[in-house]
Amino acid sequence: MASTLTERLSRLVKTMRGQARITEDNVQEMMREVRMALLEADVALPVVRDFIARVKEKALGAEVVGSLNPGQVLVSIVNRELAATMGEGVSDINLAAQPPAVILMAGLQGAGKTTTTAKLAKHLIEKRKKKVLTVSADVYRPAAIEQLKLVTRQAGAEWFPSTKDDQPLAIAQAALDYARKHYMDVLLVDTAGRLAIDEAMMREIAELHGALKPVETLFVVDAMQGQDAVNTAKAFREALPLTGIVLTKMDGDSRGGAALSVRQVTGAPIKFAGTSEKIDGLEVFDAERHAGRILG
Ligand code: GDP
Repeated sequence: MASTLTERLSRLVKTMRGQARITEDNVQEMMREVRMALLEADVALPVVRDFIARVKEKALGAEVVGSLNPGQVLVSIVNRELAATMGEGVSDINLAAQPPAVILMAGLQGAGKTTTTAKLAKHLIEKRKKKVLTVSADVYRPAAIEQLKLVTRQAGAEWFPSTKDDQPLAIAQAALDYARKHYMDVLLVDTAGRLAIDEAMMREIAELHGALKPVETLFVVDAMQGQDAVNTAKAFREALPLTGIVLTKMDGDSRGGAALSVRQVTGAPIKFAGTSEKIDGLEVFDAERHAGRILG
């Protein structure tokens, strides 16, 4: 197994003991290790470059205090910057809207949208005491509608029926009317996804966004997607004003570098992490813990 960043840096700092300041040379050498650690974690290259430039600026001339050596100081700067970048603006689901607050779920097929929709429904019922309705606008895959029905039942939320013969916009409108009439607090709208970015899909979800005026538009992305996550994130950011990210499949063995990439590309906060296939496998995103995982 590759050694951790901390181990690699401590090897480097053996030669730097007794220094009071971090010098340009120290930083150069260490940044090579940081860069490698981020690339190994599958952070996208342009994001790595940008991040390194920021850390470099902070590290240069940083004082080495007390018993810490320059390597330890640098590791803590990298850790802090990583956690700060990923943790910026983190908050629970925003429900500050005239009820029903609409939450639109966006992402590629297989990212975990349907599963996450049910997990969020459960979260909102249990933690926020809300009355939740779900609906699927995925008219291309009848199995997806059935899947949402099943997991919504597990979540203890209400499910609004739709069929493959309906138009996504009409489904969304009907669900919204029903939610209003039945005093629902939240309407979660699951949408169609393709295996790759597709213009028609983007147009459709942008139309849904225009009609529903959601208070949250969540981008659901598979943490295992690695480098590709950047392009997916870009395409969704261009089509929709994203308000948050849910990073799924964090129970997999990826180092989760997609978190940093997607955070940087979309500018949206990472709100939740999916941690299993089960309905209760959803956690509030912990940026500090995740920084440790990325750096190894
Ligand atoms: P969708 O096509 O975006 O709606 O994706 P689904 O919700 O159908 O999920 C695709 C697959 O990923 C299913 O087998 C889910 O059980 C699985 N899945 C979703 N979220 C997670 C997660 O956080 N961890 C794990 N291990 N599997 C997940």
